[in-house]
Amino acid sequence: MTSAVCLSGPASSGVGPLINSKKRMRKNKNKIAKVTRPPVEATQGIHLLAKPIGPVCNLNCEYCFYLEKQALFGPNEKYRMSDEVLRAYITKYITSQPTPVVEFVWQGGEPTLLGIDFFKRVIELQKPFAGRKTITNSLQTNGTLLTDKWCAFLKKHNFMVGISLDGPREIHDCYRRNRKGNGTFDQVMRGLRLLQKNKVDYNVLACVARETAKRPLDVYRFLKGEDVEFIQFTPIVERMPDVCGSQLGLRLAGPAALTKEEEQTEVTPWTVIPEEYGDFLIVIYEEWVRHDVGKVFVMNFEWALNAWIGNPSPVCVHAKQCGRSVVIEHNGDVFACDHCVYPQYRLGNIMTSQLPAMVEKSLQMGFGVSKETALPRWCRECEVLAACQGACPKHRFIKIPYDEPGLHYLCPGYKKFFLHIRKYLRVMTKLLENGLPASYIMDAIKGPLVVKLDKK
Ligand code: SF4
Ligand code: SF4
Ligand code: SF4
Repeated sequence: MTSAVCLSGPASSGVGPLINSKKRMRKNKNKIAKVTRPPVEATQGIHLLAKPIGPVCNLNCEYCFYLEKQALFGPNEKYRMSDEVLRAYITKYITSQPTPVVEFVWQGGEPTLLGIDFFKRVIELQKPFAGRKTITNSLQTNGTLLTDKWCAFLKKHNFMVGISLDGPREIHDCYRRNRKGNGTFDQVMRGLRLLQKNKVDYNVLACVARETAKRPLDVYRFLKGEDVEFIQFTPIVERMPDVCGSQLGLRLAGPAALTKEEEQTEVTPWTVIPEEYGDFLIVIYEEWVRHDVGKVFVMNFEWALNAWIGNPSPVCVHAKQCGRSVVIEHNGDVFACDHCVYPQYRLGNIMTSQLPAMVEKSLQMGFGVSKETALPRWCRECEVLAACQGACPKHRFIKIPYDEPGLHYLCPGYKKFFLHIRKYLRVMTKLLENGLPASYIMDAIKGPLVVKLDKK
């Protein structure tokens, strides 16, 4: 699977790319997101991300935040979703969904360790509902176990695959290693080539850890050179264990409290430096906006444009509130979110509780809602609040100038990035409003900007 996960991508966001070349706009006419707000009900579905193999993985990436979850289950735990739980999950997830599209996201750990037969069973169990709902599947994988047979299956059943690749060998291998401590670059590239050869839809999830952030163009140009069209950058942020985490046997701290000052603010050595994360995105944006708009889709840039236009964010981190993207573990336990798999965020079990009730319980507990209500004044008065929304509450562990707790660790980086790209977002918004492809911005940058204005 991935380390710091794909919370939303082309397959799961429900929003087609806003940024298109003219050719793509024609081709994907119906997929292009409208420059309007979608109806409320479209945003009210529940997203249930599945971890059918729990925290089990064949790799041992240095920055992995999920392997440690084995401490929460007993030593004799069987990390494989049983047929009984799988059936309940699929049935309840589909039947409780108010939306016409139901998106399944399979993650781990490493879900391919379950074997193809497990996923054949998934398709079989989904089949009876296929006439009534559109069902999609996404698989997050580290790519090392992919084979032609796997790819043929994924292609046949239209899986969208998220593959984790951090950049060229020396960057990727810096953190993404196997259990012997060796780099995994060659195996992942083998997996990527198989996906490409078999024409499986995929996107690349690139984690931005401390060393990665120092080499933005090396990462971006490498991925572009490998013909990767969809990229999502995920910043790595983790704190050293706090008292609560240590008591549970975890090596990392849990979510920030938001309402009180955090005692533990020391980050791990692999955590990205805030300003460097901002610079990383800016340097790539500057290259992208000159050469690649409409050809390479960087989801972080799509989200920023979405927010600028006024659409709800398709990614929880930059949404006003979160709490509707719950996670189901291998044993049927449901937790408030992928980053909050801790006892205090357990909502129930799929075998004994109803999904809407579990989500409701989570929201009533304040999870997700507090993302907005607990925003510190520093955020409420921020110029780029609409794009950032204070980011993920889990990492709001910094105290701010007004002497309030609850500021996101990456704030200086986010602010720098969002402020920097505003000039480009203005132009792209204008282009889209006038029915022109956002890719025209590449010409606009070269010379005097002439944008045809809508006469209405
Ligand atoms: S591949 Fe495995 S070890 Fe690496 S980040 Fe993903 S789950 Fe963790
Ligand atoms: S706490 Fe909220 S914003 Fe953070 S990862 Fe979970 S759902 Fe997303
Ligand atoms: S940039 Fe900083 S101040 Fe602004 S909303 Fe984001 S976290 Fe808050």
